[in-house]
Amino acid sequence: MDSSKRKFLALSGLAVASSLYASESPHIKSNEKTTKKHKKASLPDTKNPRVVVLGGGWSGLSIAKTIKELSPQADVILVEKRHEFISCPISNLWLVDKVDLEYITHDYLQAARNYDYTYFNATAIGVDKKNRTLQTSEGDIAFDYLVLSPGIDYDYSKWTKDITLVTRLKQEYPAGFIPGSEHITLKNKIQNFKGGNFILTVPGGNYRCLPAPYERACIIANYFKQKKLKAKVIILDENNAVTIKKKGFMSAFKELYADYIEYIPNSAIESIDLDTKTVTTELDEFKFEDAAFYPRVRGAKIIETMGFAKDAKDRMEGNINPLTYEVEGESNIFIAGDARPMGFSKSGNTSNSEGKYVGKLIANRINKLKAPKWEAPVTLCFSAVSTEPENAIFIYTQYSFDKKDKSLENAKFADWKKFSFSETTSSENWKKDGVKNAASIYSWADALYFDMFGAK
Ligand SMILES: Cc1cc2nc3c(=O)[nH]c(=O)nc-3n(C[C@H](O)[C@H](O)[C@H](O)COP(=O)(O)OP(=O)(O)OC[C@H]3O[C@@H](n4cnc5c(N)ncnc54)[C@H](O)[C@@H]3O)c2cc1C
Repeated sequence: MDSSKRKFLALSGLAVASSLYASESPHIKSNEKTTKKHKKASLPDTKNPRVVVLGGGWSGLSIAKTIKELSPQADVILVEKRHEFISCPISNLWLVDKVDLEYITHDYLQAARNYDYTYFNATAIGVDKKNRTLQTSEGDIAFDYLVLSPGIDYDYSKWTKDITLVTRLKQEYPAGFIPGSEHITLKNKIQNFKGGNFILTVPGGNYRCLPAPYERACIIANYFKQKKLKAKVIILDENNAVTIKKKGFMSAFKELYADYIEYIPNSAIESIDLDTKTVTTELDEFKFEDAAFYPRVRGAKIIETMGFAKDAKDRMEGNINPLTYEVEGESNIFIAGDARPMGFSKSGNTSNSEGKYVGKLIANRINKLKAPKWEAPVTLCFSAVSTEPENAIFIYTQYSFDKKDKSLENAKFADWKKFSFSETTSSENWKKDGVKNAASIYSWADALYFDMFGAK
């Protein structure tokens, strides 16, 4: 077993079995009854307003922290199914040992202690809207406000409806865009690769982290090049061009990895045969030795289970007012992070900065203050184009909408389309600024991890 795998297993601990036992504590409010099927979660009572945040990712961590900062009297509970946080940002560098697992792994207990909220390790399974209760594997939790930040799930349906194939794709060729086991499998694939074609796919639609598949291709190619492997990273991109930081990535493909990367746009996949190891696109057929198949994404399925998902361009995402993040028809339930329908970049920085606004919005309600003015989330995204030496590119953008558009005063789900990029700048000349940008990758990550988890 390699050392990173050992460390990961040590950090993970054992899966906790579901225990639907009743606690002795009374409900936070007299009208909040547990349903017949579920028992109360074992949590202390409170007389204060309770906010339950589902999902301890970049969105949920930022929201929980902000609410507690602005409304210290609130009883904030972060419900998260994982035992520890593993960061997707920076994980591409971990694949080739540029950082160790400790750097991208963080402690939910530390975050909860530093920011004075409760981390509750459980899987959410449903909601009882009438009784304002989140149902979890560890019992029901009554809430005054509920925030859903559960991220994404994969959607393989554009490629195949064959469940056996989907199961094999998930297990044998995971995308590596939801952290944990998928990343470990991918790391082992890369580090044990003997040569030949390594396929990476880029999905269509607003997928999680637009630059990450291209960054990953560069990092893998750099690794193969250093090892002097006879190998090629084939990028099958469903889109007609690189979706972001195009100049920077295309020049890296051409100038650094001409013999190692083959970039093929307009590659909508028609079939994948895992026995003959062949991928067929509209235009061609590709043989591969290994691969990571990244399908389209959709809002996490728990949102659909709760009845809060709506279709935004083939992506079942939160049915929310895009300005207030409230679920349509539910004034005390919110959806944020990558599960939102707006065309913002599905990135950690975006979710973290958006979380400050959503947190303020809820804190102001609790504090009986006016709703805050809408604040644009910020996307600041660094991508490595090489690791030996380290070079990177970045993009910065905010978002805006037409303030004269009166219909947005009562914004509806359908208005998710009305937001556009603003204040966009980028640094894509890696030959000039690559070293400086690469250093910023680590200062960015340090700052964001500190923001979410606080001091050790
Ligand atoms: C390889 C890669 C590289 C990336 N690089 C960058 C980068 O450089 N910069 C950047 O800004 N972004 C980057 N991103 C994107 C970033 O990771 C995501 O946009 C971000 O994680 C979204 O935050 P979120 O909170 O919405 O979702 P997540 O971070 O996925 O969090 C959702 C959480 O909800 C939990 N959850 C889901 N369902 C349940 C349930 N039913 N019960 C309990 N818990 C549940 C999950 O366990 C998870 O912890 C990258 C992503 C990948 C995959």
